[in-house]
Amino acid sequence: LSEGLQSAFKSLRGKGKLTESNMREGLQTVEQAMLEADVSYPVVQDFMQHVTERALGKRVLLSLRPHEELVRIVYDELVSILGPVDSSLHLKKSGCTVLMLCGLQGSGKTTTCGKLSQLLLEQKITPTLVAADLQRPAAIEQLHVIGRQLDVPVYSNPDEKDPVKVCQAGVKHAEANGSRVVILDTAGRLAIDQELMAELSRIDKKVSPDQVYLVVDGMTGQDAVNSAGAFNAELELDGVVMTKLDGDARGGALLSVKNVTGVPIKFIGTGEHFDALEPFRPEGMASRILQMGDMVAAAREAHRIVDEDEREKLEEMMASGEMTLDDFKKLMEKIAKPGLMGKMMGLIPGMGQMKEMLNNEDVSGGVKQTIGLINSMTKAERRDPKIIDTSRRTRIAAGAGVQPPMVNQLVKQFEQMKPLMKMMAGGSAADRMQMMRQ
Ligand code: GDP
Ligand code: MG
Repeated sequence: LSEGLQSAFKSLRGKGKLTESNMREGLQTVEQAMLEADVSYPVVQDFMQHVTERALGKRVLLSLRPHEELVRIVYDELVSILGPVDSSLHLKKSGCTVLMLCGLQGSGKTTTCGKLSQLLLEQKITPTLVAADLQRPAAIEQLHVIGRQLDVPVYSNPDEKDPVKVCQAGVKHAEANGSRVVILDTAGRLAIDQELMAELSRIDKKVSPDQVYLVVDGMTGQDAVNSAGAFNAELELDGVVMTKLDGDARGGALLSVKNVTGVPIKFIGTGEHFDALEPFRPEGMASRILQMGDMVAAAREAHRIVDEDEREKLEEMMASGEMTLDDFKKLMEKIAKPGLMGKMMGLIPGMGQMKEMLNNEDVSGGVKQTIGLINSMTKAERRDPKIIDTSRRTRIAAGAGVQPPMVNQLVKQFEQMKPLMKMMAGGSAADRMQMMRQ
């Protein structure tokens, strides 16, 4: 065996399962990544414990290193915790749906009113905006500017001091005009205060909006989490919009916000313009938080190509040491989809040389050639390639339309691969015991 293969073999031995010790380093890396992404400490601790429990004892795909397998599990777990995906505004079939936006001052509520309007306009729905921020004199005008830019009606009443009354009148006004959607743009504060909470809570009770969304600034990290807790205690939230994720912020606060509120993340804001609103995608967010996208992609690809069942079969076949050229051909045919071949070869330890050989031309051409060679062989030759002599070799090569040395090369590589695969799969019971002990 070549040195490279030997060392590949060594690095794989005894790592059939994820253990406390082979996960330690990976867990530390993940923990650090999450803290850097602004996920709060207790949330990280909870998450790490949960993931460790889930990962412990999981089999490591032969082609992956333990930390790659671990990162894949971490990623999947993050995706599931950040979910579910629900960016529907849950508009009612008939009548007027009332959306209420709330959040701290400067979090992006008014801008999000414009963004949601744009989204609705794309669906041929013209919403009515209601200027219910009576705290800042400029707030009403700001909403009117947005209304004019998008050509959507804005209801306001500068003489009314009670935001509840403004909202009630706004909804009536919209209904009279046949609007299907009303968006309430409420006041914020620089920090949580009781007066604001009481005001929002009154709107929530008296106007009964169909959907209440909390708008949080993705750049404020822990502040976002604290305010989310306060808003959630006072209001019946239906969703969260996190804004300002167009900058460097890695958005880890979102995980904490999700944890605190338990409601779906609906959208993320990625800019100041009206089209900078994206439906929330847990996958994108998980990658952003972990920043190990390449590793995750590679590990997921490995799992996608070799699913659980196929993996068992493959490993059994490898472990038995009784893989014939027929089995090999079946394997080839299964994976001989364009582009997959090279990856697959790279994924099965010990196949590196085979991959190079197959790469002589283009990859799929190489597979075809290999399959062609095996096809030209008799049953007996496939079962026991040792019987292939000069005359058989010439016949096989002619049948496949290649030069006779190609036959030798295929047989040689295949024979070389067999014992290696057997060892990799931990064929003997003693090997398996050894693995379990580690
Ligand atoms: P409000 O006080 O909650 O109504 O916040 P505004 O909607 O007035 O937004 C405050 C500031 O944040 C404005 O300058 C917006 O242009 C900006 N802003 C809002 N959303 C985003 C976003 O997703 N990305 C960026 N870069 N800026 C945003
Ligand atoms: Mg505002």
